[in-house]
Amino acid sequence: MASTGTLYIVSAPSGAGKTSLVKALLDSQANLRVSVSHTTRAMRPGEVDGVNYHFVSREAFTAMLERNEFLEHAQVFDNLYGTSQVWVEQTLAEGFDLILEIDWQGAEQVRRLMPQAKSIFILPPTQEALRHRLTHRGQDSGEIIERRMRDAVSEMAHYVEYDYLVINDDFAHALDDLKAILRANQLLQQPQQQRHAGLLGELLA
Ligand code: 5GP
Repeated sequence: MASTGTLYIVSAPSGAGKTSLVKALLDSQANLRVSVSHTTRAMRPGEVDGVNYHFVSREAFTAMLERNEFLEHAQVFDNLYGTSQVWVEQTLAEGFDLILEIDWQGAEQVRRLMPQAKSIFILPPTQEALRHRLTHRGQDSGEIIERRMRDAVSEMAHYVEYDYLVINDDFAHALDDLKAILRANQLLQQPQQQRHAGLLGELLA
């Protein structure tokens, strides 16, 4: 049997640096993929359809929902987000490790359906750092930033539901922490057994 990849759930409050960390992690791991979610949110400057998200209308999203095409879905802020089930299953079956960058509501659904998934929560080092990062994005108004701060605090309250906690104080250090989590999971007995079936057979002959 071909070995299947490990599914990772990565959550963080907006402004904790999750997207940059995941991007750097992807650049460093040949066997790692990230799921591109569907969303009804408007595209931000610099975002590319099909790369950052699949940007779809509310009607298109609802139609996908009715066809049961989402592994998980949630409303975050005022928008709908969802992860394609088929894509996740295919990618894992091909042997890739896969990251879902989703919120705590989606994480809860995925954990229920795929209990073998490993979940990681990324935290900012301080509340000031979070505010600073949200402010310096320069893409949202003061009112939206205040709302995002409140939403960030309620998102962070869910850290207890996750397997791993990474504090993004220093980018390189946080990236090392993520790499260590992936490495440790690659070395678990079961995936190692599948990867090295030949060697194990030979050693025990
Ligand atoms: P943003 O709109 O700033 O890119 O993302 C807002 C929030 O939505 C983030 O917490 C992000 O993790 C979450 N999110 C993005 N894609 C999905 C998804 O497919 N499912 C769920 N449940 N949350 C998502």
